[in-house]
Amino acid sequence: MNEINGERCESCGMPIEKGKYCGYCAPDGKLKSRAEIRGGWINFAVNNEGISREEAEKRIDEEMKKMPAWK
Ligand SMILES: [Zn+2]
Repeated sequence: MNEINGERCESCGMPIEKGKYCGYCAPDGKLKSRAEIRGGWINFAVNNEGISREEAEKRIDEEMKKMPAWK
C-alpha cells in the first residue's frame, strides 16, 4: 500500500486529515463497535460494488484483520 500524506482511519483505512478514526467509524469521537463497523462496511460494499453479501463479508473480514483497530 502506498504511503500518503496524512493519516488513515485505524478502523477502515480511509484517508483522513488528522486523528485516529474517520467520521463514519467514530462520529462523535468514540469508535463504534466492531459489529457496527463491519455491518456498515459490508452494506457499503454490496451497494456500491455490486458484489454479493457473502463475497462482501469474506472480503471485509480480511480487510478488518489488517486494521490497527481490529487486528
Ligand atoms: Zn473509518
